Amino acid sequence: MKITRISVYQQDLPLEHPYWLSGGRLKFECLDASFVKIETDAGFVGWGEGTPWGHTYVPAHGPGIRAGIETMAPFILGLDPRLVLEVERAMDLALPGHLYAKSPIDMACWDIAGQAAGLPIADLMGGGSRTPRPIASSVGAKTIEDTRAVMDRYRQRGYIAHSVKIGGDVARDIARIRDVEDQRRVGEIILYDVNRGWTRQQALRVLSATEDLNIMVEQPCESLKDIAAISGKHATPVSVDECLVTLQDAVAVAENGWAEIFGIKLNRVGGLTKAARMRDVALAHGIDMFVMATGGSVLADAEALHLAATIPDDHCHAVWACQDMLTVDIADGRGPRNKDGHLHLPEAPGLGVHPDEEALGDPLAVYS
Ligand code: MG
Repeated sequence: MKITRISVYQQDLPLEHPYWLSGGRLKFECLDASFVKIETDAGFVGWGEGTPWGHTYVPAHGPGIRAGIETMAPFILGLDPRLVLEVERAMDLALPGHLYAKSPIDMACWDIAGQAAGLPIADLMGGGSRTPRPIASSVGAKTIEDTRAVMDRYRQRGYIAHSVKIGGDVARDIARIRDVEDQRRVGEIILYDVNRGWTRQQALRVLSATEDLNIMVEQPCESLKDIAAISGKHATPVSVDECLVTLQDAVAVAENGWAEIFGIKLNRVGGLTKAARMRDVALAHGIDMFVMATGGSVLADAEALHLAATIPDDHCHAVWACQDMLTVDIADGRGPRNKDGHLHLPEAPGLGVHPDEEALGDPLAVYS
């Protein structure tokens, strides 16, 4: 089987509500999604998606994905998409780094490999758990009142997992954490996501003031060095998210015990092939995981769900999915959708969902 054509589409995905990170420092209203269709000489068609969370969140943006694919396409055409390691090496040779541009290609190849094998991607990767994964909400609020309102909105949709965005102001963060904990319902999974918004000393002040609450926080500071520097000075479990980009990052965090949780975002780390290695490093070191679509449509959510399903149930806290935050649906209700706050693994071969091609319009670029 050979890749014969790669088509690239662009789609704006507006957020239903404006969204802030890091105490209001970063605002987001619309995501720039790239969809990739890979066709083969055997008739199989695979789809991938790359949707960074805007262009200010991490070093990734929509135009960069499309430019990266233009550079890599000549190296990928003619390869067998089922041989995902060969495709990965071809992309890494053609364009060092730029992992976020590679993930949609990787995803489309896994989609084809799954279809060709007659298996959902998670089963092709070795076996997918059918235990539904809780979807983590994303609570990008700034005040106590807004936080309560947004969390209640998600609870009404069945959500039991929440990623509450904090950071930027020590007193306000402590007050918001205490209020969320006061309102916490039995069985809820709550992650306080700082999105790099604390300095080292701000982190230690908030973590010491909330030590009695047994919370977990994500990405408290800007860099791995910062997270390492505070790691022995507090007792709160820490998830690394934005700083977990390469396999070398994962190994360093795991070996040195800088964090207890990995937040694996598939677009940032370069797709399923590279993320699966991080999963194994985590499991080998007793590190639990959140698996996350970086953003985007139900395709990105499905990709995250497939990886999450390959993690033993006890070690996968939740998946973060973006589908309930968007006003545009490019798959018209198909694919894994929120059911009582959970995603269920699709049984269809491959990714389990394809977009509505008509909704995407004409491709911006076609390589053949
Ligand atoms: Mg995060």
